[in-house]
Amino acid sequence: MSDVVVVGAGLSGLTAAQLLQANGHHVVVLDKGRGLGGRMATRRISTPDGSTAILDHGAQFFTVRDEGFQQMVDRWITDGVVREWCRGFVAEDGHPRYVVNNGMTALTKHIAQGLDVRTSTLVFAVKPCDTNPERWTVVIDDNSRIDCDAVIMTCPLPQSYSLTVTTGVELPQDLLLTDYDRTIGLLAVLDGPSAIPSPGGIQNPDEVFSWIGDNKAKGISPIPAITFHANPAWSSAHWDDSLEDGLALITQAAQKYLGDAQIVASEYKKWRFATPRKVWPEPFFAVNTLVFAGDAFAGPKVEGAILSGLKSAEYVGDLVGNN
Ligand SMILES: Cc1cc2nc3c(=O)[nH]c(=O)nc-3n(C[C@H](O)[C@H](O)[C@H](O)COP(=O)(O)OP(=O)(O)OC[C@H]3O[C@@H](n4cnc5c(N)ncnc54)[C@H](O)[C@@H]3O)c2cc1C
Repeated sequence: MSDVVVVGAGLSGLTAAQLLQANGHHVVVLDKGRGLGGRMATRRISTPDGSTAILDHGAQFFTVRDEGFQQMVDRWITDGVVREWCRGFVAEDGHPRYVVNNGMTALTKHIAQGLDVRTSTLVFAVKPCDTNPERWTVVIDDNSRIDCDAVIMTCPLPQSYSLTVTTGVELPQDLLLTDYDRTIGLLAVLDGPSAIPSPGGIQNPDEVFSWIGDNKAKGISPIPAITFHANPAWSSAHWDDSLEDGLALITQAAQKYLGDAQIVASEYKKWRFATPRKVWPEPFFAVNTLVFAGDAFAGPKVEGAILSGLKSAEYVGDLVGNN
């Protein structure tokens, strides 16, 4: 049995870990977040009258192209975790948009079942093991260490690099220079229905927003609650705004989508590494037993993150299988 450490408990890392564990490897997943899920994030916001809204604030829905991924999705539907939301927003195009019952994080919790996932665990560095240079030592910020045969790094790439400079492994320039678009979001709980038409999502409606989603219409929030995502240009231009200024500006831009409703509670959110601008042509990048995976490899979406996780796990399983 080989020891594998997966850094990052987002979709990619959890999918990789689940496959490796199913194939008999000993796997530990480490994530700096308080909870798991990474960009599959769901927030609960309480209102002054004591109600609770549920809002997806990272990924909003997902689509399927790959046949193997479709089989996974079909199993999640059978398990009651995922369901089809709609087949288009302004007009139907025949392609299912899937959502997760109870919010996107619930899918990552489902995938994580039975895994050793350690949250609130910030990885500080990965370096060759002192006693066996063919193994790796993963150093955690409390200075505890885990030795292993292989490491799968699934953080956004700039974060993965900063942790692996201590490995001495050289990475291709193209990979090193992968940049990410930013997203600023507004999570707004309303006192009545919004003006967002059925089925409850609008893509690229104006010069500010790339997405507006009604979490009640989507079926995850018991009360009206809207996720607004500003587009990359707006997010970049306002990244350094103070919380007060940024919140005021995005709230003003959101007004025309609220109908007669008023915002009763809101949160201002920033994703520094929202979407990779370039996608690496292979589903992962490996230097022997140090592997880089995530949505920068198989596509900047839910499906890409999962496929990258699967492929990286197959590679690692083949490589360390006989250790
Ligand atoms: C605003 C937004 C909207 C989106 N909308 C959609 C959508 O509608 N449809 C769609 O298909 N996709 C969407 N996406 C993309 C989708 O969310 C991602 O492609 C996918 O979730 C990425 O998964 P991942 O595992 O590759 O990375 P992540 O989910 O980012 O996981 C990486 C993990 O690494 C952890 N980490 C980082 N550094 C460390 C460290 N030092 N130590 C330990 N852990 C660390 C992080 O905490 C994180 O949990 C959206 C993304 C964003 C941000």
